[in-house]
Amino acid sequence: MKAAFFKEHGGSDRIIYDDYRDPSPDASEVVVRVKACALNHVDMLLLDGRYPPPEGLPHVNGCEVTGTIETMGDRVTGLTKGQRVIIFPGFSCGVCEYCLRGERTVCVRYGYLGAARDGGYAELVKAPAANILSLPESISFEQGAAVPLAMLTSWHALVVQANLRAGQTVLVQAAGSGVGSAAIQIARLCGARVITTVGADDKIEFAKSLGADRVVNYRTQDFVDEAKKWSNKRGVDVVVEHIGGETFEKSVYALTRLGTLVTIGSHDTHWGRLDLRHMYSKNLRIVGTNLGSILELKTVLDHVVEGKLKPVIDRAFPLKDARAAVQHVLDRKNKGKVLLVP
Ligand SMILES: [Zn+2]
Repeated sequence: MKAAFFKEHGGSDRIIYDDYRDPSPDASEVVVRVKACALNHVDMLLLDGRYPPPEGLPHVNGCEVTGTIETMGDRVTGLTKGQRVIIFPGFSCGVCEYCLRGERTVCVRYGYLGAARDGGYAELVKAPAANILSLPESISFEQGAAVPLAMLTSWHALVVQANLRAGQTVLVQAAGSGVGSAAIQIARLCGARVITTVGADDKIEFAKSLGADRVVNYRTQDFVDEAKKWSNKRGVDVVVEHIGGETFEKSVYALTRLGTLVTIGSHDTHWGRLDLRHMYSKNLRIVGTNLGSILELKTVLDHVVEGKLKPVIDRAFPLKDARAAVQHVLDRKNKGKVLLVP
């Protein structure tokens, strides 16, 4: 098969489009013919070596995949060849203490499609049959590929971890990102009001079109001041933070008493300072979260079918142009998800 892979770490110029080993499924796995694969920040960390692929190089990135079933292992039941599917990107062992508690995203052997094993920047990809969900007819392959990581993670962060309720206020960092564009819509769906940040004025209208009530250009305005003004000096109930560094540190100041900051990524840096006085005197909560459950993915897909959530697609590149697609994301030119289509 053809794939876009890399043999050494570095920038987008390390990505090679060429022949690659075909995936060989075991008895409980399926091979999916990829129809669309979305790019993610984690792809960039795998590529540049900040998070080296656990199985070594060469490696194929890509954790958000839709496609059709190509072949199935002998023990796979309930699926049919040619069926339209979406792959749930998290792998768990099912037997460790945390899996037994029903908290599979913190499995001690947890791994992601496209990280723990080769992913979807390819014509074919394999996955456990247990990770396969049917893709509803009304959702295109491209729309579907924009759902499993960004939308599911944002859903779990706001609905489950932050327990967001109608009437509350949310600060969503980086409206132009996959997580940001999903979190704005989900917060609105919950009946909350949203203030969000962008790094360029040409993303303001985009953020408003997703349902943001107030948009702040963080390069020209202080987002804490603006969040305070917008909330009549009160501060917001929830912050969705995935940048790290100074953005994390300042985000805590935007919270009101009993507020919750959900941290779901560290796009700029893995570190962030914390003013402990604010933490204890205001009874704040800082909650880490990653991904969500397969059932939650199904719930998100139901909302997409009903038109209540809209996967935001920036543009699709042909698989052979993976290098340009990665550079497009590295340059932060995208508004929503960037896809590869074989
Ligand atoms: Zn486990």
